[in-house]
Amino acid sequence: MKVIKSVDSLQNELKYKVGFVIGFVPTMGYLHQGHISLIEQCVHENDITIVSIFVNPKQFNDSDDLKNYPRNIRKDVALLEKSGVDLVFIPPVKEIYPDSEEEYFSFGHLEEIMEGKYRPGHFNGVAQVVSRLFKIVKPSKAYFGLKDFQQLAIIKKLVQILDMHIDIIPCPIVREKDGLAMSSRNVLLKNEERKSASRISQTLFESRNFAKNHSVEETKNWVVNTVNKDPNLEVEYFEIVDDTELLQIQNWDDKTQSVGCIAVKTGNVRLIDNILF
Ligand code: AMP
Repeated sequence: MKVIKSVDSLQNELKYKVGFVIGFVPTMGYLHQGHISLIEQCVHENDITIVSIFVNPKQFNDSDDLKNYPRNIRKDVALLEKSGVDLVFIPPVKEIYPDSEEEYFSFGHLEEIMEGKYRPGHFNGVAQVVSRLFKIVKPSKAYFGLKDFQQLAIIKKLVQILDMHIDIIPCPIVREKDGLAMSSRNVLLKNEERKSASRISQTLFESRNFAKNHSVEETKNWVVNTVNKDPNLEVEYFEIVDDTELLQIQNWDDKTQSVGCIAVKTGNVRLIDNILF
């Protein structure tokens, strides 16, 4: 496995890989089993797997969140080595953003709700880094976790906007034993917060049963109230939307597939999760 830090050396490596099918997994590092599941699928489905580790400053709307974001490159590289990755791209910020120019993307409704509403500028930051990485790596397939459900919808739209022929492959959410969706940020939870955090996924799982004989509105209220009963948790939003346009569902028979997306604050940490209904 090669560890590469500059765009030039990555492109130099890729010169010799003409005709190989390239799979790509972009990450912000501090890798866990959720990341590894994407990587394993990528290794299985492509000739070459490239993983990037880049904590993208442009997608952080909160400077403390960026400062406190967990990092451990040495451990990440050791983990990737064991996972059959061919190239790890770990660029410094200047390699990805050589000048101060901002690019603006327009995602319409997709960026106006949920994460877009509570994290202004976040998706434009995500789009900037992903579009640059896609242009550098030129993958045939790129792997993204369903944990970041709205991000996945944004990325699918991004490749349409840029007319890039890249298959965007959604991968299932990997959870801890108690149901908490794995996340690099989980390490920032204090003991009590970590215990409380399991209530988020448990409530989402139970809401599927609740929804069988309650309306969409009643289900939304029930989820918010049940999570908020724990004094360590504060729901930022819980929305039930269709799985492509992310339009709010009014009745269960509105669309074939709906998804409940939640963001919860516990202490200084913000957690997101979702469930298919
Ligand atoms: P991040 O490093 O948080 O930017 O995540 C990199 C990729 O891993 C994104 O596509 C995430 O959606 C995905 N990912 C993060 N956590 C999980 C998880 N628990 N299960 C599945 N995919 C995940």
